[in-house]
Amino acid sequence: MDFSLSDTERDIRDWVRNFVQRELIPLEPEVLRRERAGERGLTKEEQRELQEKARKAGFWGVQTPEEYGGMGLGAVMAALIEIELGRTFVPFRFGGYADNILYHANEEQKKRYLIPTIEGERKSCFAITEPGAGSDAKNIRTTAHLDGDEWVINGEKTFITGGIDADFAMVFAVTDKEKGANGGVTCFLVDRDMGWTSEPIDIMGEWDRQPAALVFDNVRVPKENVLGEVGQGFALAMQWIGRGRYLLPARALGGCMRLVEMGIDYAKTRETFGKPIAERQAIQWMLADSAVEIEALRWLVLQAAWQVDQGMDSRHAQSMAKLYGGVRANEIVDRILQLHGGMGYTRELPIERWYRDLRLLRIFEGTDEIQRRTIARNLLKGHASVNGVLG
Ligand SMILES: Cc1cc2nc3c(=O)[nH]c(=O)nc-3n(C[C@H](O)[C@H](O)[C@H](O)COP(=O)(O)OP(=O)(O)OC[C@H]3O[C@@H](n4cnc5c(N)ncnc54)[C@H](O)[C@@H]3O)c2cc1C
Repeated sequence: MDFSLSDTERDIRDWVRNFVQRELIPLEPEVLRRERAGERGLTKEEQRELQEKARKAGFWGVQTPEEYGGMGLGAVMAALIEIELGRTFVPFRFGGYADNILYHANEEQKKRYLIPTIEGERKSCFAITEPGAGSDAKNIRTTAHLDGDEWVINGEKTFITGGIDADFAMVFAVTDKEKGANGGVTCFLVDRDMGWTSEPIDIMGEWDRQPAALVFDNVRVPKENVLGEVGQGFALAMQWIGRGRYLLPARALGGCMRLVEMGIDYAKTRETFGKPIAERQAIQWMLADSAVEIEALRWLVLQAAWQVDQGMDSRHAQSMAKLYGGVRANEIVDRILQLHGGMGYTRELPIERWYRDLRLLRIFEGTDEIQRRTIARNLLKGHASVNGVLG
């Protein structure tokens, strides 16, 4: 069994690590200052400039196929990159990305939606959640009915990431009530100027892609704006959600690594009762437990990503990585905050920011409870066993 990286993997990983160290970490004080003032951490122009800088070095569209100008990297490499980006809270993403389901677009739609999204000229958002349907996404009530050559959409979506900035939404609506999620949900590409509106939702964490509530009040959408087939939208939605669940805990893992490094530094310098707190067993155990959990999470993430690269059904492994990552990352940030005492609770340090941010991991793209439900179902139905991938 070989757990080492190839030279290429190491080179790519190290380039990203240096980029984070050189370009992003120095921005942290300013990002914090702006966020504390209620502004975006990075302006759109700054985000774009950093993306262009990375592009010059070949970092553009990490998983975007090469025929679309991307790097076409596999899942393990994408996870390794995401771990490095997670080492900072500066909200940077490499450019050249488009939602996986946009590749189901026909040629005309690709020109209007996919390519401009990859190029960063248009912004998308993914809209399935509704006030009455979150975990239970099959229960959506937004409807679309055909009127001549147009579909007419009515309903409300909520918590839609990037819904304020998006130029178009990928909207899931019921087109056949009898069939529901089994052939009665369709995905539509709906431009903002077709008439939907958005209201920001204030959240606990700092997000440059603030979520929004979207309202569709008799929004008319041309027939040719159906993405994929009429009635096949629910499968597309599941494909979007499953596109890289391992990447969420990967990012959190990078944050945990940085937090523990901060904890080690602080423990060595902070003295109480005449000794550095690093010499107290209570503090050492915090660091030790965190290091073990980080290591376990690393292998859960990488193993899930490896299964994706092998073309295996990775859903069980991805659910385990997401669940473990959400729970453990929250424990780790809490410990590191505790280790810093009163300073941990201040806004002078970024720990409280990480604390608020990491909390989301236990909620979106499948809550802890939904991941547990998936894992337990797989075990009970015999789709997975505790023998793991080695059998
Ligand atoms: C910041 C943010 C960004 C988001 N971005 C998007 C986006 O871009 N697009 C989008 O469509 N959605 C988005 N969401 C929505 C997100 O996916 C949902 O919030 C999530 O799926 C949970 O749904 P809910 O909030 O309706 O909670 P509910 O489904 O109402 O759940 C409430 C509680 O009950 C538990 N629960 C539910 N069902 C069960 C069960 N069967 N067994 C045991 N426990 C259960 C849940 O785990 C949770 O603890 C976002 C949410 C947030 C907070």
